[in-house]
Amino acid sequence: MKYAAARLIAKKRDGGALSEEEVQDLVSGVVDGSLSDAQLGAFLMAVCCNGMGAEETAWLTIAMRDSGRVLRHDRIAAKKVDKHSTGGVGDKVSLLLAPLVAAAGVAVPMVSGRGLGHTGGTIDKLESLPGYRTDLSLEEFGEVLERCGYAMMAPSGQIAPADRRMYATRDVSGTVESIPLITSSILSKKLAEGIDGLVMDIKVGRASFMRQEHDARALMESIVRVGCAAGVETRALLTDMDHPLGLALGNALEVEEVLRALEGRDRCPPDLLEVTMALAAEMLLVAGAAQDRAGAIAALEQLWDDGVVRQVFAHNLELQGGDVRVLEAPDLLGRAPVVFTVEAPCSGYVVDVDPLALGEVVVDLGGGRASKRADRFRPQEGLQPVDPHVGVVLACVLGDEVDAGAPLAYVHARTEAAALQAAAKVAAAMPIGDERRSRGPLVRHRSG
Ligand code: URA
Repeated sequence: MKYAAARLIAKKRDGGALSEEEVQDLVSGVVDGSLSDAQLGAFLMAVCCNGMGAEETAWLTIAMRDSGRVLRHDRIAAKKVDKHSTGGVGDKVSLLLAPLVAAAGVAVPMVSGRGLGHTGGTIDKLESLPGYRTDLSLEEFGEVLERCGYAMMAPSGQIAPADRRMYATRDVSGTVESIPLITSSILSKKLAEGIDGLVMDIKVGRASFMRQEHDARALMESIVRVGCAAGVETRALLTDMDHPLGLALGNALEVEEVLRALEGRDRCPPDLLEVTMALAAEMLLVAGAAQDRAGAIAALEQLWDDGVVRQVFAHNLELQGGDVRVLEAPDLLGRAPVVFTVEAPCSGYVVDVDPLALGEVVVDLGGGRASKRADRFRPQEGLQPVDPHVGVVLACVLGDEVDAGAPLAYVHARTEAAALQAAAKVAAAMPIGDERRSRGPLVRHRSG
């Protein structure tokens, strides 16, 4: 490092602002190890307590992006636009949205994460497709993108390596909850994908990273400001995570829901359809591939109805090593040995469907990672495997009327004992009452 680390840390501790050169120097110290763990922890705590200005956050993001490979897809004439979600329960939007947007002529290079805690991850879902490879080299990633319009891969050590060390340190130093640090962490990886535009799905509600709407809005504003400052047109939607998205929760079960949805929009749960369409339309607008939201939605619906989206999905599946027969025979995804029906204890209305509790049930069944400190940033150190087949499929949603004994949900488990334990928690997460409640708006806010 050119500067004395202690001086830069003290400057942040005292509420000062770092210059662009100082920020770059700190990030170079993160990557080459000349900034010690103690110094990095102290710096992160100073930022967590005192914040960072918009310019400083943008410099930090760009320096973190440039700490590794920044992809370029010069051979692809189409606009490249990605979508990123802050994570939810039952959120399989990416699996539908990528072929949908690619079918509309916009390239989607998507580096996704694995599930952590109660939130699922796109990579775990994709890996439940027999043969599907998420460990593409960066070159293979570019080739798949060029050939079918979208490519999906797990985080690579070559992309934004500064974030790996910083996130691992934040995780153990109580410094995860900081808007500038979250902004730079998410965007450094996304901006390295070689994109022209980005649409953020910022979840808000009980099962999201940002439970309060004002926190979610602050994150949204920060991400949009910094993304645009870094030269990538960035927009964001605030979407509901007070209830699960769709009916299936658990990796292969969610993929099965996607395969069915690809057969026709009428087979897609309405909430999943609405959020997918809203985000996909925003991506078309960012790419300049539609004049307005209504036009974008109409074009996307046509592609879905004409079977083009399913064809693009099949092409990607083939290119990434997956068994394309799964489209005709979803049974090839496999099934957990025990399927247990959770019945309504009395007649009435479903007055809640608690996504946090249900997400935790999936983790307990073995379908997710209990520890937030899973492998994501240290891939060689004990990736906790997930069971692709276990999970919960809802038979009802909020406001549905049920008779006593009617199915509320189906638990897919490895053993009878696990199924019984999960069933009790599912029943508690879906109470029955007298009042017919309905879900609030799914898209709660759009960036300006
Ligand atoms: N996801 C990330 O990649 N980084 C954060 O800081 C939070 C969520």
